[in-house]
Amino acid sequence: MKNSKHSWAEPYKIKMVELLKMTTPAQRKKAMKEAGYNTFLLKSEDVYIDLLTDSGTSAMSDRQWSGMMMGDEAYAGSRNFYHLEKVVQDVYGYKYLIPTHQGRGAENILSKILIKKGDIIPGNMYFTTTRLHQELASGKFEDIIIDEAHDPENEFPFKGNVDLVKLEKLIKKHGAEKIPYVSMATSVNMAGGQPISMKNLKELRALTKKHKIRVIHDMTRVAENAYFIQQREKGYQQKTIREIVKEINSYTDGATMSAKKDALVNIGGFLAVNDWDVFEEARNMVVVYEGLHTYGGLAGRDMEAMAIGIGESINDDHIRARVGQVIYLGEKMMEYGVPIVKPIGGHGIFVDAKKFLPHIRQDQFPAQTLAAEIYLDAGVRTMERGVVSAGRKANGENYFPKLELVRFTIPRRVYTQAHMDVIAESAARVYDRRNSIKGMKMIYEPKYLRFFQAKFEKL
Ligand SMILES: *Cc1c(COP(=O)(O)O)cnc(C)c1O
Repeated sequence: MKNSKHSWAEPYKIKMVELLKMTTPAQRKKAMKEAGYNTFLLKSEDVYIDLLTDSGTSAMSDRQWSGMMMGDEAYAGSRNFYHLEKVVQDVYGYKYLIPTHQGRGAENILSKILIKKGDIIPGNMYFTTTRLHQELASGKFEDIIIDEAHDPENEFPFKGNVDLVKLEKLIKKHGAEKIPYVSMATSVNMAGGQPISMKNLKELRALTKKHKIRVIHDMTRVAENAYFIQQREKGYQQKTIREIVKEINSYTDGATMSAKKDALVNIGGFLAVNDWDVFEEARNMVVVYEGLHTYGGLAGRDMEAMAIGIGESINDDHIRARVGQVIYLGEKMMEYGVPIVKPIGGHGIFVDAKKFLPHIRQDQFPAQTLAAEIYLDAGVRTMERGVVSAGRKANGENYFPKLELVRFTIPRRVYTQAHMDVIAESAARVYDRRNSIKGMKMIYEPKYLRFFQAKFEKL
C-alpha cells in the first residue's frame, strides 16, 4: 500500500534543553587516551551523545519534577513512601515494598536473605551486579537461558526465554532444596535487551511451583518486555502494557528493581516481595545497608518521582515511542551493514564486535576497542559488554563469553531522531575503516566489576 508508513513519534514535547559541548577529533583523541581507552573513565563534558547506559539518564517529565517539590523529607513514614507503596501494589501487583538506593541495594538484601552457602541460583543469563551479589552471598549462578540467546544472528523473537530442560537438569543434579530461587529477568540486558515470552513464564511458574522454588524477577525493564509481548505474542495484541506487566509479575514471587531504567528516574530502586517472612527480614536488613524501611537510601522527593515515573512507564504511547526510537536506530545501522544483535532489543543496539572486528582476538578486547573507536569518530559514548564486563571466575580465569558486544544504550526521552542519524552514520564510518583497527591490552584491573575502572593501551 502506498503512503501507509507510520513512524514512531514522541508523545511529549521539549520544554527545556541542555546545551552540549562539541569536540574536535584532537580533543577526543586526548580525552580517550587519558581515560585508558575505557569509556567509563571519560568526562561526560567530553561526550556529545551519551549512550553509555540507559540507567538514571532518562529525562523526567514536568509531572515528575513537580513531584520533586512535593518531597516529604521526614526520617520516618514519609508520605511519598506510601504513595510509592500504593503504586507498586497497584501497577506491579507485589504486596510488600522495601525502597533501596538503586537495584543493587535490593539485590544485596535479597541475596543475603535467600542464599545459603553452596546454593545454586539459575537465571536467564547473568547480570553483572546480580551475579556478584549472588556470589558474595556464597551462591553459584547457573545460566539457563535458551541457546538462541548466545547467538547474535538468531532471530528468535523471545531470546530471553528460560530453557526449562536446563533448569530441570539442575534440579535433578542438586535437588530443589539447593535452589532458593530462579533469577528471572525481563528484557535480558546482557543478551541485548531480549524479551521472555508469557508462555515461557507460565511454564517456568508451573515447574518451579512443583518443586517449591521461588521465582525472583529482575523487573528493571519489565515494561519494555511487555511491549514485545504485546507486539509478538499471540493473544496479547489487545492487552495494554499495564495489563501485561501485571500478568508477568503474577507468575513471580518477588522482584528487584532498578528504577533508573524503566521507571524514568535518575536514582532509586526497590525490593518487592509477596512473602511476609522475606519482607520482615528485608525490613530488618535494609536498616543496616540502606536506611530506614520507609526511605531505603532515598529522599522523599526521589520516591515521589519514582511513583510518578512508574505510572508513565507503563503508558502504551510512551513505550511505543521508546522502543520505536531504538528500532529506528537499529534499522539505520543495518542499512549501513553494521553487524548488530537481532532481533533489535528494547533499550539499545548491541553491535557484534566479533563480527565487526574479526581480526582481533577476544583476549585483545574487540568490544572495548570498538567502543573507543566509536567515541573517537564523533564523540558518541558506548560501552563494552564482552570479556571485560564478564570478569574473572573464582579461580582467577577470565570468563570468555560467547557474546562480545558494544552497547549503544538509548536514554529515555533524551535524544532526537537527528541524534540517531548521527550515531548510525558514525558507526558506519568506523565500519568502513575496520581493517585498520588494532586490539588492546589491559594495563590496570580492579578486583570487582572491572569494566568500570580498567585501563587499556593500544597494541
Ligand atoms: C541496572 C541493572 C541492575 C542493577 O541496578 P542498579 O540500579 O544499577 O544498581 C540489575 N539488573 C539489571 C538487568 C540492570 O539493568
